[in-house]
Amino acid sequence: MSDVRGLLAAATQRLGERVDAEALLLHVLEKPRSWLIAHDTDSLDADIVASFEALVARRAAGEPVAYITGHRGFWSLDLHVTPATLIPRPETELLVELALQHLPVGQRLKVADLGTGSGAIALAIAHERPQAQVSAVDVSTEALQVARGNAHRLGIGNVRFLEGNWMTPLSGERFAVIVSNPPYIEAGDPHLARGDLRFEPAGALASGDDGLDAIRHIVSTAPGYLEPGGWLLMEHGWDQGPAVRALLITAGYLDASTAQDLEGRDRVSGGRHPGLIFPG
Ligand code: GLN
Repeated sequence: MSDVRGLLAAATQRLGERVDAEALLLHVLEKPRSWLIAHDTDSLDADIVASFEALVARRAAGEPVAYITGHRGFWSLDLHVTPATLIPRPETELLVELALQHLPVGQRLKVADLGTGSGAIALAIAHERPQAQVSAVDVSTEALQVARGNAHRLGIGNVRFLEGNWMTPLSGERFAVIVSNPPYIEAGDPHLARGDLRFEPAGALASGDDGLDAIRHIVSTAPGYLEPGGWLLMEHGWDQGPAVRALLITAGYLDASTAQDLEGRDRVSGGRHPGLIFPG
């Protein structure tokens, strides 16, 4: 029963997800995914089995796999994550793709990532555009520690990390692109009390009765921090595209538009701001 195949079958039945069972076993064994291909019938030591069972129990109690293993892949990067940070989602890679479209290779452009969490977005952009100067902001000291650690481990040097609320630590600066994956879930959404979301930082998820408090704040303040013609791009919920575009248009942004994620759902909206507005 304690061969790899048997252990994974039992854990898969308990967790309902083979991919979770595999991730936990590979974490205990400190092996890459490719290891599984040729080791189906290996039998494992009792201490390994016990460690694995303990992690399976944590997952069965609801804890997200990424918090148990401490890692999550995003873009091409392996990121350290803790309960102080949101777990990076694959759909957020769309925000990175769109930002890169506005950042020609080889130019020393300035980029800001508001609410950086684990640093996922800022680090992916900085990695793809080594000439860009990326500023990553978060209000959480603990999250910034995780993000700084990720930059250090990945050897990404063109990001600086600043503590504060949204634009506050960026006073007097102008950016070619401002990106954010802000909290955007409605405060009363029952999903917040279910699944992985229960374990994630509430401040990174929920934002007022309609979920748009953070986005409204960012849309209204970003013009004071964008270069003329600079782009603001924000992730949001699948049903918030029209509302976010309306906010952008009302605030004077041009070319307001929404892009869909791989599942065809509205996911990122943005626009460019035409002129200088002074923060205040
Ligand atoms: N996309 C996340 C979710 O719905 C929410 C992330 C966020 O609020 N920025 O699970």
